[in-house]
Amino acid sequence: MTDNDTLFGKIIRREIPATIVYEDDEVLGFRDIAPQAPVHVLFVPKNVHIPTLDDARPEHAALVGKLALAAAEYARREGFEQDGYRVVMNCRGDAGQTVFHIHLHLLAGAQLGRFGTPA
Ligand code: AMP
Repeated sequence: MTDNDTLFGKIIRREIPATIVYEDDEVLGFRDIAPQAPVHVLFVPKNVHIPTLDDARPEHAALVGKLALAAAEYARREGFEQDGYRVVMNCRGDAGQTVFHIHLHLLAGAQLGRFGTPA
């Protein structure tokens, strides 16, 4: 799980542009190109290619947790810690996953509607 020929792999390697709003040693955060909330940022692992949450293994536990903590840090930095926000990870077809490099969506900046209903 090291080759990352996905769209997000190209963003991580700066081969295609993205609006990067968060970066640390292990996680990159960039704006979603088709935002579904006033703030919509994707958090991805920079150094490990895990296609889906189902592919994550116990040795990835800390990294998966770091995606959530990176989202929380960014949300706090942007002042959303009191109003709140949503984080979502889609896994494969029924969830609508389209990019097979594990990522966490952060949605913020408005009262969000219900989710999880069939399309
Ligand atoms: P998912 O459906 O969970 O796989 O999420 C993939 C997300 O990537 C979608 O919300 C897309 O809008 C977003 N996306 C697709 N292409 C780009 C891009 N070039 N830059 C930023 N986000 C993108």
